[in-house]
Amino acid sequence: MTYTYDDQNIFAKILRGEIPNETVHETEHTLAFRDIYPQAPVHVLVIPKGPYVCYDHFARAASDAEIVDYTRVVGQLCAELGVQEDGYRLISNAGAHGVQEVPHLHVHILGGRVLGRMLAKA
Ligand code: 5GP
Repeated sequence: MTYTYDDQNIFAKILRGEIPNETVHETEHTLAFRDIYPQAPVHVLVIPKGPYVCYDHFARAASDAEIVDYTRVVGQLCAELGVQEDGYRLISNAGAHGVQEVPHLHVHILGGRVLGRMLAKA
């Protein structure tokens, strides 16, 4: 499948500085910021700066430098956010069945409380 990137999505606007965000980490290829509606005491979104719709799009189309940078930022944040000891969850929703709200790749880093089982009934 070929993905079409919509540059009017809310995270594209955040990357262009049109909408404020609470940045926790930024590199050449990656931005991490607090979720506006946190679902846990720690809820950070990690996005690539490039125009990728979802995880598989990024994994197939991004450069090695982007993928390494993004992956390292996720790892570094798990350490910096203090969730390693008690554990955390990474989520990346995609498409309709994944109930993806914003069509720009993001990984949710969630932690700071027991998060319950992985899936609830829809
Ligand atoms: P999705 O359902 O696409 O995986 O998650 C999108 C996430 O983006 C949601 O958790 C939602 O709270 C968050 N979100 C939506 N709009 C904004 C915004 O303008 N700023 C920030 N920081 N988060 C947002």
